[in-house]
Amino acid sequence: MRAVIFDFFGTLSDPSAEAERLGTFAVTAAALGVPADRFGAVMAATFRRRATGEHGGTRDTLLAMARACGVEPGEAQLDAALASHRAGAQIVRRPRPEALAVLDRVRELGYVLGLLSDCSSELCEAWAETPYAARIDAPVFSWREGRLKPDPRLYATVAERLGVAPAECWFVGDGGGREHHGARQAGMRPVLITNDAYPEVRHLRADPDSYLPPDRLPDLTGLPALLGPA
Ligand SMILES: [Mg+2]
Repeated sequence: MRAVIFDFFGTLSDPSAEAERLGTFAVTAAALGVPADRFGAVMAATFRRRATGEHGGTRDTLLAMARACGVEPGEAQLDAALASHRAGAQIVRRPRPEALAVLDRVRELGYVLGLLSDCSSELCEAWAETPYAARIDAPVFSWREGRLKPDPRLYATVAERLGVAPAECWFVGDGGGREHHGARQAGMRPVLITNDAYPEVRHLRADPDSYLPPDRLPDLTGLPALLGPA
């Protein structure tokens, strides 16, 4: 095994941060002049389209969301909404406590590291400024690729960019988007992060995987020991 591919949300990011997301939506909705519950519903309903780049970047996406709520925001409103939405997105990117040390340790073990994230524009736009960027050799974003997990082309793309065969890749994720099914189909070896210490986020995994990998860890702490040297 030569590479480790990580999911992002709830795997590298702090699962407890996701619960703070709806609060940040309320601030953005207020800036756009739309009801918070309506904005939240439109965001939820458009996830697949937002995560495959259909609405473009974050500013254009917020404009589309406002219009879907029946509101035409002014430039100043859009600027304010963009600022608050980006601040909220930053909260949700917060690394889980052990994430950065584990990434460093896994690199020391000799692996190259990839990312495979179903994400909307915010993560992709901010990636270079995050502490993950220097640690991940090949980040692959659904927003940029125009397809979601478990599309086999995503797994092939990340392996190709890392210069390894899929069979040489571990795939580490907290489930959702049938990501482990996709990893297994691609020939990768999946590891499930169960997030046992975060029962409050279980409902956020709305698309549970039909395949549960035999390799399971409660968080990332035990990952270097599971992987061993590359
Ligand atoms: Mg996840």
